[in-house]
Amino acid sequence: MALLKKNTWLLYALFVVISVLLAVMSTYMRWDNLVESQKQQQAHRAEQVASSIEAILLSHEMLLDLLGQQLLNEYQDLNDVRSPKLLDDLMVINPSVIGFGLARPDGQLVLVNSAQDREQLPNLLHQEASRDSFLYTLQASGMVLGRTYFLKAIGSWGIPIRKALRNEQGNVIAVMTAGIKIEGGARIFEKDLHFSNTDEVSLVRDRDHYFQYQSSVNDDLDEIYQSPINPERLDASLLQLTSNGQALAAVKALKEARTYIVHHPKGYRIEAAVYEPKHELWVFASSCLLDTFKQFIASMMIYVVIFVFVQVMVFSLFRSIVRSEKQTIKQLEYLATHDALTQLPNRQYLINHIQQLVHTNPDGFSLLFLDINNFKGINDSFGHDYGDQVLKQMGNKMQTALVTDEFLVRLGSDEFVVVTPECREDKLTQKCEQLASTLQGANWIQGLKLHVEVSIGVACYPQHGQNLNALLRAADVAMYKAKSDKTGMEFYQHDVDNAYLKNYRIEQALRSAIGTDELYMFYQPQVDHHGQMIGVEALVRWLHPEMGFISPARFIPIAETSDLMTTLGAFVVERTLSEMSQLRQQSGKSFTVSINISVRQLMHSSFIDCLMAQVSQYQFQPQDIILEITENLFIEDMNNVGRIIIELQTKGFNISLDDFGTGYSSLNVLQKLPIDELKVDKSFVDDITRDEKARKMIKNIIAIGKNYGMSVLAEGVETAHQARMLSNFGCDYFQGYLFAKPMSANDLREYLQ
Ligand code: C2E
Ligand code: CA
Ligand code: CA
Repeated sequence: MALLKKNTWLLYALFVVISVLLAVMSTYMRWDNLVESQKQQQAHRAEQVASSIEAILLSHEMLLDLLGQQLLNEYQDLNDVRSPKLLDDLMVINPSVIGFGLARPDGQLVLVNSAQDREQLPNLLHQEASRDSFLYTLQASGMVLGRTYFLKAIGSWGIPIRKALRNEQGNVIAVMTAGIKIEGGARIFEKDLHFSNTDEVSLVRDRDHYFQYQSSVNDDLDEIYQSPINPERLDASLLQLTSNGQALAAVKALKEARTYIVHHPKGYRIEAAVYEPKHELWVFASSCLLDTFKQFIASMMIYVVIFVFVQVMVFSLFRSIVRSEKQTIKQLEYLATHDALTQLPNRQYLINHIQQLVHTNPDGFSLLFLDINNFKGINDSFGHDYGDQVLKQMGNKMQTALVTDEFLVRLGSDEFVVVTPECREDKLTQKCEQLASTLQGANWIQGLKLHVEVSIGVACYPQHGQNLNALLRAADVAMYKAKSDKTGMEFYQHDVDNAYLKNYRIEQALRSAIGTDELYMFYQPQVDHHGQMIGVEALVRWLHPEMGFISPARFIPIAETSDLMTTLGAFVVERTLSEMSQLRQQSGKSFTVSINISVRQLMHSSFIDCLMAQVSQYQFQPQDIILEITENLFIEDMNNVGRIIIELQTKGFNISLDDFGTGYSSLNVLQKLPIDELKVDKSFVDDITRDEKARKMIKNIIAIGKNYGMSVLAEGVETAHQARMLSNFGCDYFQGYLFAKPMSANDLREYLQ
């Protein structure tokens, strides 16, 4: 059971592990996709910027070339500073240019557009910001980009572009220069290079590691352009670029942008870089990794919610499965440990709890074994449904008599056990009396008032038994004693147990005695009031080699409760008929033979057939046979017994009601059944001479018998006084030591003579 529960949770754990793994995997994939697409965007941008920069600068180079030639043609004298109209005109056409100028090879600007402040005009060779690039221009064949700086004469930040103009010998005559606007309206790099505030595009001069251009939004331009780039920052990017082992020169030759994640002073960034070789510019495009992460988180939110929802649902599903499993297990456990009829705990429950009882009650506890007297009678008379109701009500009633720590168990049929921590004898006696009196009061069941009596056997742990079986057996033994002694309750005693054991021994001995000459028949004569023998009662005898003579009153009930009675009964009938037929032939006298028939014997399916077969085998007439049936027998199963008796009677057998007066048979029974003879029990005969009540009883029995046309036989007649009185009351026949004791067939032959 626990395994089942464990498996369910294991399954759940498996689900959690798999779902978390899948979630982690798909989350990672999503993140990877986002980063990848961001890299693509940046790469695309870097490439675009690089190619447009190249195109723009090429067109500007052409412009500088043409313009420079034109100016040199127009002005041979380059000694004075002048402002040609052409330059002003070009300024209007090119809004992205902040100024034009023609410089002598010595760095002095001589031809400038008129908007430039002449006082502020720098010597490009003397000025720190332009010196290097100016010198470089003098050697370079193409257009050269200068360091981005604040052009004082113009009053604005710009990127200087310069082109050396040469004569036919290749000597530099002048340098044509222009400033490209990088801030304010109409500048060449528009703000829409940015996808977000934290995006950045930058152009870096490979030659001296200065920013040529940086698109950051709110930055201090002085700081950006006046000194070389923080090597930490640039090196980090360059390191990533060559991280696959390629030399930087090879990377520069690539046309496509390369992407990577890099840690800048501004944090982690997704960056793409491509080199524009013509103007020796690195183009970097980057976005903040944190932005991508935020985007990722935002897009994951819905998945997280779904994931949590699914997890919660599945968890509650599993929990409800486990709960219903638990419930089922509980129910099964309950069914296995409780009695379906009364809902009381059953034997299994007791078995399960005995260890616990021993543990929690080290000083001991007691079992009260309760059995309803004559429950079988109730069942047979009123039906099983009624019997069930009786048991239910008994269970309920007993439970009201219990206190804390006590519980009631139904062992089976009409057997109940009360388990109590009580061990003191007086308290236990009280408890039993209380239980008995709760049950003995008026019990109205289905409109019938029923008087219920119980017998209780008490056994205490540990002195009466060390385990449940021993305790139950001890309590059972005590209960039997209470029942047979009619005392209501008994404590277990070892000597009683010995009797119990002896019964067992007798049963075993009887089993092997049947068919040997240990068992034989005695016959007791029955006489009429003249003293004339009219019949005999066959009585079985058992002489055991060790135990000696054992009374049938002792072993017949034992045979009854075991499976021995049918065999024993068959032996009795067989032996009796065989001996008596012989005797009848030898003596030539005719007399009846009374045979005691027990319940088990009578109810056996082949009883009538066997009896008939033997009667004819020994040449008897059924009329010669009297079958003695104890009246108590009717209680057992009135319907069946009645049916069999009627059948026997129709076959011609006589029926005698034995031990009449001691049982419960009603006049109803006498009226319904074809009974030929009543046998007045010895106990009445014993008291007849001294007890008025017994006398009355016998008179009544004789009257009833006469009334129903039955003959009346008194048994156990020991004195002539008794015989005289019985005769006076109208008793027909007599049997007793006064006339003859039971005797062997041989002795009977002599007696007859
Ligand atoms: P029961 O059928 O009532 O038999 C009469 C008993 O009273 C016999 O005891 C008999 O020996 C005894 N008895 C007869 N006259 C006197 C008397 O004047 N004084 C005294 N004190 N006793 C007298 P027994 O033979 O010990 O049988 C006891 C019971 O065992 C019988 O009672 C009968 O119920 C049962 N029984 C005996 N033999 C058989 C048998 O073959 N089959 C069956 N099913 N039961 C048997
Ligand atoms: Ca008898
Ligand atoms: Ca009798």
